Amino acid sequence: MSLTSLLRLASATLAALGVATALGTAGPAVTASDDSVLRPVAGTSGPEAVQRSRQVRQRQAATAASSNSYAFGSTLDGKPLRFDPCTPIRWTANTGSGPAGGLTVLKTAVAEVARRTGTTWTYVGNTSTVPRASYLPGSAQESYPPVLIGWTDGSRSDLLAGQPSGTLAMARNAWFGVQRPDGTRLAAVRTAVVALDRTDRLPLTGPVSWTAVALHELGHAVGLGHTEDRSQLMASVMPRTTGALQVGDRTGLTKLGREAGCVTVP
Ligand SMILES: [Zn+2]
Repeated sequence: MSLTSLLRLASATLAALGVATALGTAGPAVTASDDSVLRPVAGTSGPEAVQRSRQVRQRQAATAASSNSYAFGSTLDGKPLRFDPCTPIRWTANTGSGPAGGLTVLKTAVAEVARRTGTTWTYVGNTSTVPRASYLPGSAQESYPPVLIGWTDGSRSDLLAGQPSGTLAMARNAWFGVQRPDGTRLAAVRTAVVALDRTDRLPLTGPVSWTAVALHELGHAVGLGHTEDRSQLMASVMPRTTGALQVGDRTGLTKLGREAGCVTVP
């Protein structure tokens, strides 16, 4: 098959498959070796918002305590998109507009996600960079910017602009990979951006707290989506009864982490 027809086939496959909750893009083909043509594939997840509950009392499912419910944010060929758990994940924080103690909150949440996924997170220091959608690179690079988590507001960040008033935060990640001539695809999440709405006056810990919001958004950053089970921290509306990761949240994180093996993208 000629290179041109291979590329046509690759394009058709991409279009037919689509990529749920992601903006699929494809760049020019790169030849990795004589017998394989690897076509770049890339996309972003989300943005995913988490809302503050507007109800006084939230209905809980009868089985909530033992629920193991979770969902993946984006999948590629049936597999969840995730960071390579065998490579340290670098992260940075913008706490200038956050509450006193904000950095400790973020470090605690990152440590919890690192533990649940079996990954290593390296803090590279504070930044003044505003968490915006444009923080994420649009194409594959030699190296990627660290995961950015920070407080901002709708006047400065497009991730929060125009959102309902109950929105506490937004997260988006970016993944890059390749499509082989046989159509199979392999990609990894390379970085993410999390915007925490500084105008929400939340406590640092406990239910509906900055710790809970950070855990939820980091869940998105590493590849979890929203679950229908409203007792889980990964529900689209923050549970009012807990600020900790629940059974389903922890199961989902485990399946995105070291236990699922390394992700080696050519
Ligand atoms: Zn969410």
